[in-house]
Amino acid sequence: MATIKLEVVSPDQMVYEQDIAMLIVRSTGGELGILPRHAPLVTGLIPHAMRVKLPGEAEEQLIAVSGGFMEVTPEKITVLAGAAEEPLNIDVNRAQQAYDRAKQRIAKFHQGPPESNDIDFKRAELALERAKARLKACKREVA
Ligand code: ATP
Repeated sequence: MATIKLEVVSPDQMVYEQDIAMLIVRSTGGELGILPRHAPLVTGLIPHAMRVKLPGEAEEQLIAVSGGFMEVTPEKITVLAGAAEEPLNIDVNRAQQAYDRAKQRIAKFHQGPPESNDIDFKRAELALERAKARLKACKREVA
């Protein structure tokens, strides 16, 4: 079976390196499936759980990414992420706390002044998306 090399790199480490059959990501332009010998491409990624199909394996692997960039050449996919984790390295409680905190901040923002005065809405929204990506990578239910 044809494969393509996937490297997922965060600022402090190589998070994942494997020959894979297919990668499904959420790019800034929508969902993309990358197969071996894909045309060259560079795109931004939004926070989500990437889906990795390995050759000969029915079950997908999930990798949380907090956003970043993906470069595709016919032989290799490179994901440069602000942060990325495989499920084994995700602290689910921490992700759940980040999720709850972001939800509270967003709710406060929607109450309007004075409650919303010190809420950075965009920041809370991005934190929520990162937490959702981590929870999804761990197959937790998220709203
Ligand atoms: P938190 O509010 O819990 O810090 P965050 O979304 O603000 O979450 P990031 O800025 O995306 O965190 O990541 C900072 C560092 O912490 C990265 O190295 C990331 O891999 C790690 N990290 C964040 N959340 C988790 C988690 N739930 N489990 C494991 N590592 C995590």
